[in-house]
Amino acid sequence: MNLKKLSKNAFMNFINELLLTGRVEAVQAKGDKFDFGPLESAKDLRLDYDVTLLPPKKYFQPPVETLLTYEVGKTYKSHYDNEKFILIGVHPYDMIAINQMDRLFSQDNYDSHYMTRRNNATIIACDVETPSENVFASSMGTATVKEGYDILLTNIGDGYVAEAVTDKGQALLLKANKSVEISEEDLGKRQQVWNKNQEILNNHPLKCKALDLPKLLEKAYDHPVWEEKAKTCFSCGSCNQVCPTCYCFNVQDDVNWNMKTGKRQRVWDGCLLTGFTKVAGGHEFRANRADRFRHRLYRKAKYVPAKIGGEIACVGCGRCIDACLPDIANPVNIYNRLIEDIGID
Ligand code: SF4
Ligand code: SF4
Repeated sequence: MNLKKLSKNAFMNFINELLLTGRVEAVQAKGDKFDFGPLESAKDLRLDYDVTLLPPKKYFQPPVETLLTYEVGKTYKSHYDNEKFILIGVHPYDMIAINQMDRLFSQDNYDSHYMTRRNNATIIACDVETPSENVFASSMGTATVKEGYDILLTNIGDGYVAEAVTDKGQALLLKANKSVEISEEDLGKRQQVWNKNQEILNNHPLKCKALDLPKLLEKAYDHPVWEEKAKTCFSCGSCNQVCPTCYCFNVQDDVNWNMKTGKRQRVWDGCLLTGFTKVAGGHEFRANRADRFRHRLYRKAKYVPAKIGGEIACVGCGRCIDACLPDIANPVNIYNRLIEDIGID
């Protein structure tokens, strides 16, 4: 059966069953914030969280990963992370970001390192219970999600509706052996949660349809807002690091002292960092801070959408707003300013 209702107790039993199957990663409290990490006990799981410090992209594209090791004059060995795991508590906006990354890492150049991790994951997503201070997913059409996960959980007050949409999800849901029959009323309550979240996850309302943003940016390349905002930018790259749709990386060779063996690593990079565009000979294509600042916003709402069929590569999680000390990273503030100054038509 694909749909089940779990009381709060049945849900805890279900999570305990999952813990017996192997590696489980899930959202837990970290001081007064929340983050994904290894789950040891069902009682530590927090599906009532607002937003996690880092998005779940770290499970598919880790901050540092060894792609291969080599020995000069001999051969090399590719490294793959083959461990299967269950990831619990992915919010809809983060799930949509993962769906976008799946397309980016599998179209054109198939990235076997990313896709191996992705295929090893079973994702249990959950609808948002507590809106975060800076979320604007409703404006971006990412407050609810219909694909990408294996199971979706929705808290309807007296328990969870759990829906499995893949074979992997159905196999896991068989472990929820204390579930009760689901009713039309339960499904109605789930629909109410979806309707509400599509309205209220909107603490920074965008003044146009998200899909109109590429059109807006066509006229905004020379707008003064880029210079104005970039004046106080530290080029710290925090807005890149916390973003679920930023995936730029650098590849570095780490040669051992014997000068014969070494490893090739992939590490997170960020377009706001100085040196991001530096190439051999010391040439740098975006040495100017304002150019780098503009690039991030163009990447989200013009360049990446052109690669993935028009979908905007900002899912409205609000993490960049939380992370930016000079408070200049809010994408909605910038887009709304452009709408006021140059209009959408
Ligand atoms: S640009 Fe900001 S709000 Fe948009 S997805 Fe990235 S971190 Fe979230
Ligand atoms: S977080 Fe803010 S200060 Fe840091 S690079 Fe991004 S925009 Fe600049």
